[in-house]
Amino acid sequence: MTSYADFYRQSIDQPDAFWASQAKLIDWHRPFDRVCNYDNPPFVSWFEGGQTSLCHNAVDRHLADRADQAALIAISSETGTEKTYTFKELLVEVQRMAASLKALGVAKGDRVLIYMPMIAEAAFAMLACARIGAIHCVVFGGFASGSLASRIDDATPKVIVSADAGSRGGKVVAYKPLLDEALRLSSHQPEAVLLADRKLAPMALVAGRDHLWTDLHEQHCDAQVPCEWLDSTAISYTIYTSGTTGKPKGVQRDTGGYAVALAASMKHIFDGRAGETYFSTSDIGWVVGHSYIVYGPLIAGMATIMYEGLPTQGMDGRPNGGIWWSLVEKYRVTAMFSAPTAVRVLKKQDPALLKKYDLSSLRALFLAGEPLDEPTARWISEGLNVPIIDNYWQTESGWPILTIANGVEKKPSKFGSPGVPMYGYNVKLLHESTGEELTRPGEKGVVVLEGPTPPGFMQTIWKGDDRFVETYWKTVPGRMVYSTFDWGIRDADGYYFILGRTDDVINVAGHRLGTREIEESISGHPQVAEVAVVGMADALKGQVAMAFVVLKDAALTQDSAASLRLEGEIMKRVDTDLGAVARPARVRFVTALPKTRSGKLLRRAIQAVCEGRDAGDLTTMDDPAALQQIRDRVATV
Ligand code: ATP
Ligand code: MG
Repeated sequence: MTSYADFYRQSIDQPDAFWASQAKLIDWHRPFDRVCNYDNPPFVSWFEGGQTSLCHNAVDRHLADRADQAALIAISSETGTEKTYTFKELLVEVQRMAASLKALGVAKGDRVLIYMPMIAEAAFAMLACARIGAIHCVVFGGFASGSLASRIDDATPKVIVSADAGSRGGKVVAYKPLLDEALRLSSHQPEAVLLADRKLAPMALVAGRDHLWTDLHEQHCDAQVPCEWLDSTAISYTIYTSGTTGKPKGVQRDTGGYAVALAASMKHIFDGRAGETYFSTSDIGWVVGHSYIVYGPLIAGMATIMYEGLPTQGMDGRPNGGIWWSLVEKYRVTAMFSAPTAVRVLKKQDPALLKKYDLSSLRALFLAGEPLDEPTARWISEGLNVPIIDNYWQTESGWPILTIANGVEKKPSKFGSPGVPMYGYNVKLLHESTGEELTRPGEKGVVVLEGPTPPGFMQTIWKGDDRFVETYWKTVPGRMVYSTFDWGIRDADGYYFILGRTDDVINVAGHRLGTREIEESISGHPQVAEVAVVGMADALKGQVAMAFVVLKDAALTQDSAASLRLEGEIMKRVDTDLGAVARPARVRFVTALPKTRSGKLLRRAIQAVCEGRDAGDLTTMDDPAALQQIRDRVATV
């Protein structure tokens, strides 16, 4: 077995040889004649001259060996439905969908915007786009009209695919009126709208524009739509970042590089084997959903679970904090992918639920999206008794930048660290103002990537080459490197620790502190379930830290004596761990924290509220009541 160190070194020193060998993991219609074209940095083209298809690699090529094996398992605890599509059946559905889109005028290069709940039809639509060479742009189904409208105007889709409704926690969310309102707000208008009717909410159809899925599918029941072979560099899709730090950016991705990157990551990182089942609890509206609900597992010949519903609701609609574990047992899931925020929700459930199911099929749980705090990691790792593999990446990267590649060489994880740089990523830490490379263990710097970025990485910002270069590649004076906008340190073994975002640093009386470090200290308190720390402007010290804490026992939040005691305990903890400068000026207890719809803390908004400023763009925020609570708590400071 090769050591990971050698594997990694080859990827950086001989990228052409390395990636040419990884490219064998997928089918090519025409072989490429150049592996990496980096003549025009920072733009990279992978596998030029080659032609392939994401849809062929995800679906058609498996027909020979596994036509009757499960491919897509669509489960909704919202509607109590569960349906498995084999690879053969998936191909039929994707061709019907492809034929329907073509009938509506969609051709190669056209955009199709997908605004859908987590139902099988959404995956059919994505794969159908890949099949005919249309560019899909999935917009998270939970977004309201304003967010949707701005994305419609940016993507200018020829067709929009949607549904009557989604459902969340048993409550029906009608999508069609939201879409109609978005189309009233947007200046761009699509030629057609294709609608799946789940019969959850009434739908008014606009004559000539709106079409029912069932009608079109009837007409194209036995459609044969061959895969369109695309240039490796052809755009497969665009997707927007979460908008945690401001206006979301339209990330654009290629075809061949992405297919290779996913195939390689399924093998080297996720250790997913054909015939097995993969369960990612993310949403198709996020990058994890694109890479590891739809394309990655299918390319690897695995069955993939697509789940609509909460982690705490059973198939009968009643509360059930064990629903995910029951699915692991039932479908013999071998690899599971979720987010720390979901695990924190489960942590508030009865721990016995983890022992109730046979989870012996599971080899690892992968978590990504935000910092994984040690107590959460320990809790789930002890409960499941499998490795918990943190992985750090971004919408921009498409697949993990830092993690552990157990498929190459088994390595231990370290609590608090997502791991080491993945093959193809030339990760560096730079001094924030001088741009000097930091090489000593424990030095804190900005995490950057040296080009060329690996296959699967974003090509550019959709319709924004200049913005791409300006936003990501020009932040360090005199050096063209890609900035992740995250802080990190590296230890003596080469493991990285992400300390938070570069705009999450606060300056207390001349001391620079990462909010993440303070949060990490506070979350170690046994009563704490979740915490957010932000800097607040202070006349004397420049800034002071403010901590907002969600307690495991929500009742204590109302108990002022307990709050006072806990505030003291938490401050003392921070004093001990980090020193008195890091001690929060106030600790306030709330029952929920404001987050983006993808579960990331909206520190930017909390900070604005603390300082009495306008909270800015809140279109991606999940729960307005949570921000209101902060407002109320700050008012009483
Ligand atoms: P925007 O760029 O629009 O502000 P965003 O950065 O939240 O939004 P994403 O691309 O969804 O959008 O999130 C990527 C970011 O999430 C990373 O840059 C990092 O800050 C954080 N992140 C992701 N995974 C991890 C992880 N394993 N550990 C720590 N942080 C993580
Ligand atoms: Mg970002």
